Amino acid sequence: MSSTAPKVGFVSLGCPKALVDSERIITQLRSEGYDLVPDYDGADLVVVNTCGFIDPAVEESLDAIGEALEENGKVIVTGCLGERASEITDVHPSVLAVTGAHAYKEVMDAVHTHLPAPHDPYSSLIPPQGIKLTPKHYAYLKISEGCNHRCSFCIIPSMRGDLESRAIGEIMQEAENLVKAGVKELLIVAQDSSAYGLDIKYRTGFWNGQPIKSRFYELANALGELGIWVRMHYVYPYPHVDKVIPLMAEGKILPYLDIPLQHGSPRILKAMKRPAASEKALDRIQHWREVCPDITLRSTFITGFPGETESEFQELLDFIQEAQLDRVGCFTYSPVDGAKANDLPDHVPEEVKQERQQRLMELQEGISGARIERFVGRTMQVLVDQVGDGEAIARSQGDAPEVDGVVFVEGGEHLPVGEFAQVEIIGTDIHDLVARPV
Ligand code: SF4
Repeated sequence: MSSTAPKVGFVSLGCPKALVDSERIITQLRSEGYDLVPDYDGADLVVVNTCGFIDPAVEESLDAIGEALEENGKVIVTGCLGERASEITDVHPSVLAVTGAHAYKEVMDAVHTHLPAPHDPYSSLIPPQGIKLTPKHYAYLKISEGCNHRCSFCIIPSMRGDLESRAIGEIMQEAENLVKAGVKELLIVAQDSSAYGLDIKYRTGFWNGQPIKSRFYELANALGELGIWVRMHYVYPYPHVDKVIPLMAEGKILPYLDIPLQHGSPRILKAMKRPAASEKALDRIQHWREVCPDITLRSTFITGFPGETESEFQELLDFIQEAQLDRVGCFTYSPVDGAKANDLPDHVPEEVKQERQQRLMELQEGISGARIERFVGRTMQVLVDQVGDGEAIARSQGDAPEVDGVVFVEGGEHLPVGEFAQVEIIGTDIHDLVARPV
């Protein structure tokens, strides 16, 4: 690190999509010769990438900005909360600049204004895969920005705009660079990954000199050629998703789908204006399991959406019982400023939302605990995340980092971190597997 280079501190909050934005800004900063420093003291200026999705995230973002101001004093704010600049400047009037989500150029303009770039950037120091904030062996790959849907509880389209798919050649090049840099697992993210290419009319691009359409199936198939784990997040149960399931059965991409279903009552789904709300999700799930029996399905749900009655909540529980999903996250409805759902009548009292969340999670625990049992006695490939005292902590094909379970490999302390290993599963709890090396 050059001691004379201007120094930037970076605080990254929010979801994997925001993390990818942070990585792009940091890559640009490094390519222009700025140094990144890990503490407020050593920084000439601090960039805070915020999340503004729900109230607790807004609070966390405002606290992080306050801390950066107190510790350093020179702060530029970007990210989702930046779309509602006055909420930031009302609390923290001394921030230097506020920009919105994926506003890479605006952030860099603000940095240039308050901390001029060095004259002789060592652009060759930037690796071709860019700077990543995840461990070396896995990376998030964002395939599009924005969203064409208008879910009534969400303000992301007003913050991030309509769907803008990246060119397929550019995505594949980034994926290849990441694999060359040692990445063993790519996590595909977007607001709606299954909508990839719709806005650019599935335009044909090129990869390795071959024509390839910018479409969900073709992208999954091409990524499946790279010989690493490819995990699909934020997919909706559209009919065209069925085509991707055989790629999972063949082992080209991971048998894993993260499908945020949010509810099981048709009336609530309609009030939520959810994508693919009219698709028969249960039939689709059953069909996916017929084609790929080992598929791990993850989803999220909301309890206490405005107007949700006890019998509609019961419909959601019946759905959960029938769907037999492997992994489930459940949130209580949180009224986001500016969301249309706030104007709906019959808001559900907070204690009822929480009581329903608890009932849902109790039901799901039994389901998750029973489903994970099927792995006991099997030998499987895992990816080692870390090693410690007498064990390794790894993940199976059914475990996405941060949100799912892990595999505790007893006696696996010698396994290399960031590499695949073969293990035999010897036990489980509700979310995690216990294994030994083979
Ligand atoms: S699909 Fe719905 S919840 Fe997801 S980003 Fe788009 S509008 Fe928001």
